[in-house]
Amino acid sequence: MRYQPSSRSRELIDKGRRYFVPNYQPREVILERGQGARVWDLDGNEYIDLGTGISVTSLGHQDPEITAALLEQARKLWHTSNIYWNEPSIRLAEELVEAAPFAQRVFFCNSGAEANEAAIKLARKWSSLSFPPDKREIITFQGSFHGRTLTTVTATAQPKYHQGFEPLPGGFSYCPFNDFEAIEGMICERTCAVLVEPIQGEGGIVPAAEGFLKHLRQLCDRHQALLIFDEVQCGMGRTGRLFAHQWEAGVEPDVLTLAKALGNGFPIGAMLTASRVAQVLGFGSHGSTFGGSPMGAAAARVVLAKLRSPQLLDHVQAQGEALRQRLTAINGSLEMFNQIRGRGLMVGAVLRNAWKGRAGDLTELARTHGVLVLQAGPDVLRFLPPLSLTDEELDQGMERLLTALKAAG
Ligand code: PLP
Repeated sequence: MRYQPSSRSRELIDKGRRYFVPNYQPREVILERGQGARVWDLDGNEYIDLGTGISVTSLGHQDPEITAALLEQARKLWHTSNIYWNEPSIRLAEELVEAAPFAQRVFFCNSGAEANEAAIKLARKWSSLSFPPDKREIITFQGSFHGRTLTTVTATAQPKYHQGFEPLPGGFSYCPFNDFEAIEGMICERTCAVLVEPIQGEGGIVPAAEGFLKHLRQLCDRHQALLIFDEVQCGMGRTGRLFAHQWEAGVEPDVLTLAKALGNGFPIGAMLTASRVAQVLGFGSHGSTFGGSPMGAAAARVVLAKLRSPQLLDHVQAQGEALRQRLTAINGSLEMFNQIRGRGLMVGAVLRNAWKGRAGDLTELARTHGVLVLQAGPDVLRFLPPLSLTDEELDQGMERLLTALKAAG
């Protein structure tokens, strides 16, 4: 092990363990500052950050323009409540609608779970306005992840997240992901919405199969159900297009949810709605104290402007390809992976044979060698580096990873 916590770090970590509800098990490191693709811990150790939190600081740490926008806003106004308008959130709503061809209106919140919660409520409300009471069911997909509130965790079709929280809200059913026939057999007149991640993130970086989103669109249209895309992790330029579903030509959702990278680390989430459902959440039907805060909107406006640059999106595709090549080369010497999959800078390396189940150990070993990578379940190493990743940062990150993985052997 290379990076060991100093006594000062150790003392603080012990305090964290003493005072936090134990729902997390953070690694033995206290991160103190970041710059671009690098972060430093309290003891001065440097790391290449190939996880960006979990797909959050996509424009790197301390992006100067985002920082400037936040500082400028912080000197003016932090909060208005939703009783009054504020300019940054109005401008951001307009810019999001311009950026997403299908969208007409926006609801702002603070996180991915809240964006999905809003989408689920919208689907139920929409159905209640025109259909009988038994048309309220929502289909989601095995391996999905949609959040941790009681309803979004129920939408999350992974039993491990449900255990102990029963009784769960009703009206959800789970379909195998990418199974064209299963969804056709499952969707029916009781379905009011289908909620899907165009690329499953927590489920192991599993892209929707070619044609699957189109199939969902057709089935939803046939059965008068809404199609909701959860792009909380895979959206905002991560795949080399502004939105991940744009890889499948001609398929548009009724509702799209965003969070994570939208504020580059400042909490903000959004639900974008197509015209047919844009008016469904009428006055008083939903809300959020902090949603649409001028601070979050100020950060997100800069993020969105940067991500709309074709050069940046091309760079994501090029660096995604380079990352996959580097992982393939590592695999050539270590034979650790069955598959390297994903899109753009959302990449999963699936562990094979004896390495299975060791993703957690391996990411920790990588950390002690100065590179932050993520796991997606026990069998997948997950890479979500900054979209602005340079060749040098990639080289250095991959060299450190190789050293760590060799040490694991
Ligand atoms: N949806 C997806 C696809 C996610 O990956 C996540 C978080 O990992 C969420 C929703 C929940 O977002 P949050 O943790 O901001 O509530």
